[in-house]
Amino acid sequence: MNQGLRHHVHRTWAETFKCTPALFFKPKTVADVQDIVREAVKSKISVTTYGSSHSPSKLTITSGWLVNLDNLNNILDYQEHKGYTDVYVEAGARLKDLNVALERRGLALQNLGSISEQSVAGVISTGTHGASYCHGLISEQIVSLEIVTETGEIVTASDNENKELFSAALLGLGAIGVIVRATIRAVPAFNIESRACVLDFDDLLDPKIWNSVFLQSEYHRIWWYPYTDKVYVWTGEKTTKAAQPPAYSFYGTRLGRFLYELLLFASVKISRKLTPFVEKWLFSRQFVENQIITRVGPGYSEINMDCLFKQLVNEWSMPLVEGPDLLRALRTEIRKQEFYVHAPIEIRASNTTLPPHNIGLRNGPGPIYGNITRPLLDPSPKLTYKEPGQISNEQLTLNLNATMYKPFGFIPPTEAWFSTFENLCAAHGGKPHWAKNWTLNPWLQPENIESFQSWKNIRDRYAPSRLFGSREWQEEKSLL
Ligand SMILES: Cc1cc2nc3c(=O)[nH]c(=O)nc-3n(C[C@H](O)[C@H](O)[C@H](O)COP(=O)(O)OP(=O)(O)OC[C@H]3O[C@@H](n4cnc5c(N)ncnc54)[C@H](O)[C@@H]3O)c2cc1C
Repeated sequence: MNQGLRHHVHRTWAETFKCTPALFFKPKTVADVQDIVREAVKSKISVTTYGSSHSPSKLTITSGWLVNLDNLNNILDYQEHKGYTDVYVEAGARLKDLNVALERRGLALQNLGSISEQSVAGVISTGTHGASYCHGLISEQIVSLEIVTETGEIVTASDNENKELFSAALLGLGAIGVIVRATIRAVPAFNIESRACVLDFDDLLDPKIWNSVFLQSEYHRIWWYPYTDKVYVWTGEKTTKAAQPPAYSFYGTRLGRFLYELLLFASVKISRKLTPFVEKWLFSRQFVENQIITRVGPGYSEINMDCLFKQLVNEWSMPLVEGPDLLRALRTEIRKQEFYVHAPIEIRASNTTLPPHNIGLRNGPGPIYGNITRPLLDPSPKLTYKEPGQISNEQLTLNLNATMYKPFGFIPPTEAWFSTFENLCAAHGGKPHWAKNWTLNPWLQPENIESFQSWKNIRDRYAPSRLFGSREWQEEKSLL
């Protein structure tokens, strides 16, 4: 077994949390991982694995043993099929490296979140999603997982093998075992042609627009700037047109970012009352109204975005049909100026409904599913599946994301805003994104407790001493 390090300080990406684990390991082989797990059982100490530590919460914060899979990042095999390729990877591989390696072979991941810094196992384990009316959680692309369980054995799980374990590990929060390898279903590489414009917030909520805006293209992003009462709407469609060079933005340059962060800093440290003025000014400098901007770029770089600065985030998912009422209620609270918020608030839709049988290839937009197992801890509402041509807002989940930046590392006050946000989201049938900075726990309510308990039962079968994951975080979230 490779030697564990003492006195290693681990920090989350946003540097909100840090810890000094009892021992820190960076295994080079899967056999090393198995040895670490067997030793941890003997030593009666917990094992927390992390990928890129981009989870904004204490999910990877531990006083037990900490394991990082950066050295298990190889692509092991490509299995080509008609219309798709199954890619066999080590689970520490980062999506950003996978995007580039796949592009070289004319392949791409089908869907991504806002960034590609995460590891394969990390996105799977927290229910990471993107923004699309036909794609759901990124884990939809996973064909199978290989997991080191508490006995130190490697167990394979998929739709057809150890299905219960699969349903728990697909959103396993690091608590089911160490995912060491995964097979991911990739598709032929694609470019995206996008259209972007600014709309009035009230126009977005108008049923004519609200009922069509999420459905008009395969990918979208909508950013709400509450102090301007405007939204930025970006929609993107796969295309065979050639990609253009990246677009220039002053706020993408070092000087532009510094200015942006400085203004946020002023609104956090000098006077919070400056926030609406800062936000309005930044909006006016970044966006042009009454203009549609179009461009073509490689799929992954168009789906990803610049998330700006280190941040605290609270994200909830609820039925998309709840959106207009919920957003109006949030606007009323923000207008009272009893707390201040940062922009944008992301308004995204995803489709986590799954067909009863894997439908394989398709002609139009939509996923070629790697699996059709709903993760037990999927926080999105259980809605009924329809084929892409028949999808309406009724099948979609609203993913509402409230970001508060930490300019130059300074933590802004978030308690009043996040608590208002959580209460309203919960009142509209919402549940929190597992990886983010949430406190209210709707999983303990009678309507949700069954899948929560089933997940715990499966965890206890494969990890009877509850070996895996941050004990501290699990205790806080009633997972123990
Ligand atoms: C700027 C930013 C943008 C983001 N955008 C999105 C977005 O668009 N959509 C979205 O849904 N989320 C988003 N997230 C959240 C992010 O996708 C998740 O937090 C994701 O889990 C991070 O991946 P990671 O590799 O950093 O995982 P880590 O944070 O390192 O770990 C996350 C969890 O996975 C477990 N884990 C890691 N590796 C393994 C393994 N090998 N075996 C078992 N368990 C493991 C850990 O124990 C932990 O519980 C964003 C986060 C940031 C900071």
